[in-house]
Amino acid sequence: MTYQLIPPVNRKPDALGDGPVIPQSVKGKYRTLKWRLLVLCLTIYYVLPFLRWTRGDGQPDQAILFDLANVRFYLFWIEARAQELYYLTGLLVLATIILVLLNALAGRVWCGFLCPQTIWTDLFLLVERKLEGDRRQQLLALKQPLTLRRLIRRGVKHVLWLVIATATGGALVLYFADAPTLLAELATGDAPMIAYGMLASLTFTTYAMAGFAREKVCTFMCPWPRLQGAIWDPEALTVTYRKHRGEQRMSAKKAELARGHGLPAGDCVDCNACVVVCPIGIDIREGPSIACINCGLCVDACDTTMARVHRPRGLIDFETWTNIERESKGDRRTPARLLRPKIIVIGLVGLVLLAAMSLHLSNRATLSLLVIHDRNPVAVALSTGEVRNAYELRITNATTEEARFNLTASGNARLQISSPGLGETDAAGLPVVVPADALRKLRVIVTGHPDLAGDITFRLVREADGKETAATDRFHLP
Ligand code: SF4
Ligand code: SF4
Repeated sequence: MTYQLIPPVNRKPDALGDGPVIPQSVKGKYRTLKWRLLVLCLTIYYVLPFLRWTRGDGQPDQAILFDLANVRFYLFWIEARAQELYYLTGLLVLATIILVLLNALAGRVWCGFLCPQTIWTDLFLLVERKLEGDRRQQLLALKQPLTLRRLIRRGVKHVLWLVIATATGGALVLYFADAPTLLAELATGDAPMIAYGMLASLTFTTYAMAGFAREKVCTFMCPWPRLQGAIWDPEALTVTYRKHRGEQRMSAKKAELARGHGLPAGDCVDCNACVVVCPIGIDIREGPSIACINCGLCVDACDTTMARVHRPRGLIDFETWTNIERESKGDRRTPARLLRPKIIVIGLVGLVLLAAMSLHLSNRATLSLLVIHDRNPVAVALSTGEVRNAYELRITNATTEEARFNLTASGNARLQISSPGLGETDAAGLPVVVPADALRKLRVIVTGHPDLAGDITFRLVREADGKETAATDRFHLP
């Protein structure tokens, strides 16, 4: 028995031509788990933009905020500026590692239980079934002329779909501005045009993806199925049909008779329940499919059938391919190994990345100083016997507050700042103010005894917390 992933097929289900698959509703433990996770995910999604996080005066107090206007990303205590968007890249890489880890544990389980596309498609299907009936009624209705009653129900369905699309996909807009304020502004019509534009485009894409594209998103638009084919793991718990147990298919009655005569009979009664509940339109009995999102609904459907015909559950189940092969050879199955070297390595890679990002974040510089010596003239001899050198100092204040510094130089040097708008000042230590999130360039003239020749170190000390940064250059003689 060899493993072969069936590539996705552009299925034309039932009487619907190119329309989406109409899956039948199903009850069971995986369906219940999916509903619970749906509620949990949506709760987190709605609560997060309203969570507050104190950051100080003049700073946004939203825990998670993508401040596009100021090109800043806030994630609780993390605050990434435009030039630090690599943190966002790091988070995306971390998310990919988590996906790969989930894949090694249980295939496309993310797709089947947690992906937003799955979540809002489930809600759309719920509304569709409430208004137009389950799969059987919908297929029957397709063959009948359109009545006014059905037309109204269809219209209500699309209105409710749009409401769900606004409340799910559209609500993403709350992460891009102060959520309570934006919500009030959206309700009163006072929100900026860009907010309405974003809301409309997110709502429309959600409506189209969940209402019309549905399984085609998971099969053809998302890159994950192709990746899944490449990183497939025979030890991962994947939804699989126990062919060795299910075949030869026959009715429950025939199977009972056959068994009564000591003849072999498969457990599959060919009820087709596993096929009609599949939101992707797969017949898992044909073999593992790249398009399968591991949602477990066919497991629920088959378990119900097995209970009805008094056969053990698990003809279709979350099982490792290793065990399927063992069972088909008549060997005993072994418990799934969740802690395998691959899982440990992927987990460690994720932890190392997380630790590296945290370390970098906690040690990142919020203050920097760069010194550039004037090239021409390098040094000027004064009539007093002293020497003068000039430098450009570039001070970066990467905090969100204006910062006040004291600037000094090593040795017995006198500093003179000559910058537009600053006037000239002459002292051993100079006060410097740098606005929030800004780079300030200062022209600094250093005058001192020729003994100063050699290295000269400029020191900036922040008044608020005494934090110091230094940079060294040369003090030249003429
Ligand atoms: S084959 Fe089963 S697990 Fe896979 S997508 Fe269809 S219903 Fe879900
Ligand atoms: S639900 Fe189970 S018994 Fe029915 S067709 Fe599918 S595999 Fe066979």
